[in-house]
Amino acid sequence: MFLVRHHLYKWKAQCRLELHGKFVENKLYLQNLSRRRRCVSRSIGGSISCSSELGKDPYIPSNETISNARLIYAVAPAMGHNQESHPESHFRVPAIVNALEKMELTPKFRCSEIVELQSFRPASMDDIASVHARAYVSGLEEAMDQASQQGIIYIDGSGPTYATPTTDMLQAFKHRHSKHVYLAFWVDLGTHFFSILGLRIFPSTFHESLIAAGAGIALVDSVVAASKNCLDPPVGFGLIRPPGHHAIPKGPMGFCVFGNVAIAARYAQRVHGLKRVFIIDFDVHHGNGTNDAFYDDPDIFFLSTHQDGSYPGTGKVDEVGEGDGEGTTLNLPLPGGSGDIAMKTVFNEVIAPCAQRFKPDIILVSAGYDGHVLDPLASLQFTTGTYYMLASNIKQLAKDLCGGRCVFFLEGGYNLESLSYSVADSFRAFLGEVSLASEFDNPAILYEEPSTKVKQAIQRVKHIHSL
Ligand SMILES: [Zn+2]
Repeated sequence: MFLVRHHLYKWKAQCRLELHGKFVENKLYLQNLSRRRRCVSRSIGGSISCSSELGKDPYIPSNETISNARLIYAVAPAMGHNQESHPESHFRVPAIVNALEKMELTPKFRCSEIVELQSFRPASMDDIASVHARAYVSGLEEAMDQASQQGIIYIDGSGPTYATPTTDMLQAFKHRHSKHVYLAFWVDLGTHFFSILGLRIFPSTFHESLIAAGAGIALVDSVVAASKNCLDPPVGFGLIRPPGHHAIPKGPMGFCVFGNVAIAARYAQRVHGLKRVFIIDFDVHHGNGTNDAFYDDPDIFFLSTHQDGSYPGTGKVDEVGEGDGEGTTLNLPLPGGSGDIAMKTVFNEVIAPCAQRFKPDIILVSAGYDGHVLDPLASLQFTTGTYYMLASNIKQLAKDLCGGRCVFFLEGGYNLESLSYSVADSFRAFLGEVSLASEFDNPAILYEEPSTKVKQAIQRVKHIHSL
């Protein structure tokens, strides 16, 4: 299995210092992380941060590095968050990284063109609480103890959303050494394992979820910083899991723990003063969590395309927001079988005009790859080429409307091959290179799209939203 190495010497040294000589519960460790995060937030301030302030932050690459890049990505594979034979598995992100290597789309092959964010902090309690109830966050942290007894627990009544504890090995270690902890305890955020006396131990779902949200936040920081120096900043891409768009404000749902994209949207507003956020969600499922978080918010436009009738059953075309937020939620359920032709029309006739009218300060994308024709969880007919088209067009939209500020967040996508190649071709789109979709897509498996039904769905949403 491929694991990406990161370099966090400075951060690790800090951790060793804090942890040395005393027994540290997971909880205390996470509190320390939260404290450090809060401290940094204060230093950046609540208003728009200037580049020099951001440049001083050791967690953000230099302005020169990110301004020269065309693509910046972060990897948060959540190796400890896994259940055997579950589609949302810890094989997903390594499969993508493998494909990127194979297709020479990593910094090793592209020098300054592609930057991997080597280090980032987990999201703080305040970051998470900007979207989720604090009671849910602390409850989940406490539930990790229960998970450690049972190995795995289900944390969502409506679907198979699971949580895993820090491995039993850590529990055994804790019981044996209840008073003292030894020097060889450190955490590597990049590879996401704890190491105790040479044993690798993966952290819990709770911690992995903080890391995923933290990666998204760090990408927002980088892209915003670059946009102050150049007209064509890099696109950000969070190769993160667990996914987030189903997680509702009061709890987890549909494989999702924390709403990564929603948390990043609130962060962009709070820390960078980017008032108007446009969120595009092209996952095959409705992003009900993001929908709910901003349903009455006029400053965050949520636009979701999804397969009609798929999980969780929400996202009907007449769900348009409420109160001050009426009109800033757009849901477009597409009939099963919709594919490349449908999505091109949707982009041109719905997504682009909607974004142009809204005039965002930043575009965030819930990038789900489970609309692919080969994906086992749904029945749309997107291809690698569809995802290339979306990536290319959304990048251009961001360039035209909001200084190129745009960050993609991985959501679904459960066929490892179609997921990997579709993300890789999205990377090629961000770089302005031609698509290699024809090497991966097999037109012979496609059938005719339901064009009349697609047209009706598009006309209906255009009518409701006066597009
Ligand atoms: Zn999905």
